[in-house]
Amino acid sequence: MTKTIAIIGAGMSGLACAQQLMQAGHHVTLFEKSRGPSGRVSTRVSDGWQCDHGAQYFTASHPLFLAQVQAWEALGVATPWQGRIFETDGTQLRAKQAEKKRYVGVPKNTAPARQLAESCHLQLEHTIDQLQYVQGQWQLHSKEQGAYAHTFDCLVLAIPSVQAHVLLAEHQATFALLAHQVKMRGCWTVMARYDNPLQVPFDGLFVNQGPLSWVARDSSKPGRITAGQAVKEVWVLQAQAQWSEAHIEDAPETVIAQMVQAFEDIGGQAPTAATAHRWRYADTEQPLQQQYAWDAELQLGMCGDWLNGGKVEGAWLSGTFLAQHMISHNT
Ligand SMILES: Cc1cc2nc3c(=O)[nH]c(=O)nc-3n(C[C@H](O)[C@H](O)[C@H](O)COP(=O)(O)OP(=O)(O)OC[C@H]3O[C@@H](n4cnc5c(N)ncnc54)[C@H](O)[C@@H]3O)c2cc1C
Repeated sequence: MTKTIAIIGAGMSGLACAQQLMQAGHHVTLFEKSRGPSGRVSTRVSDGWQCDHGAQYFTASHPLFLAQVQAWEALGVATPWQGRIFETDGTQLRAKQAEKKRYVGVPKNTAPARQLAESCHLQLEHTIDQLQYVQGQWQLHSKEQGAYAHTFDCLVLAIPSVQAHVLLAEHQATFALLAHQVKMRGCWTVMARYDNPLQVPFDGLFVNQGPLSWVARDSSKPGRITAGQAVKEVWVLQAQAQWSEAHIEDAPETVIAQMVQAFEDIGGQAPTAATAHRWRYADTEQPLQQQYAWDAELQLGMCGDWLNGGKVEGAWLSGTFLAQHMISHNT
């Protein structure tokens, strides 16, 4: 039987869930608070430069996700990144062997999610702030648009644990508690622009000391456009979780100064221009391994990276597994 299903959140988990449910013939509406889909797989596009300032790359292990990645490759929206990846303890550089291929979106990391979103009914700039369950139907209310006219047979929350906790507190105490238990961590990110390519032997570097945890030559990813631009290279600097948490309320200029100094300490240079982005909820310290959550009585589900090991692959699989469960149980 065809159902009407609302999904809150158009990140990788929500989009994967929507795809499966639509293929099974259900009517799905995705509500997203941002101006575009893709969530924490995010790219800043500005005047003459771009930078993946959320997820850096993704790996694939599960056969279902491998098949999805192959489909993206065939469509030209994802490809392996052959960047030279090293790690450092602050003194020595060591090449870091890849256990799995590192994939990126082309021409930016949001491309795979945007491909999934093409066939979806998306309601952008709808921040869902209230839910009501009345006579077996879910009613949604957004900060921007007020009450949504249609009601839904089923509801899926594909949002980070912190936000799921707030929305579900009045409706499903067990889910709300589960979400409350999964703590999220911040991540300060700096997008650094250069007039000339940096002369360092790496394109990506895991940093195991000081404020930084990862730096990458964003421009080394395939399909990034620098020809004819004044900005010749863009680097992304990510701070480690504890440092980010300790400095989460600091001014962006202070954060940039400290992170750039840390980059210089490991062989980098001061950029011509830099912009900071504060991810208040970047990742989970200890993600769950339960794939998804489903309440058959309320026809209410949750999916997302925090329920399934973290990362892009975990998020996509979480949404896919939840949809498969709903379909096989005649949702
Ligand atoms: C800085 C950073 C670096 C990362 N690096 C990597 C990496 O290298 N490799 C990797 O695999 N993963 C990485 N990740 C993690 C990866 O991005 C996530 O695991 C994955 O994108 C999570 O997808 P999701 O669908 O679960 O959640 P999200 O991507 O967070 O999607 C949730 C969506 O819900 C929306 N939303 C939230 N609340 C509401 C509401 N009330 N109403 C409407 N919409 C709402 C949000 O705007 C968002 O679009 C990184 C993340 C960050 C932040």
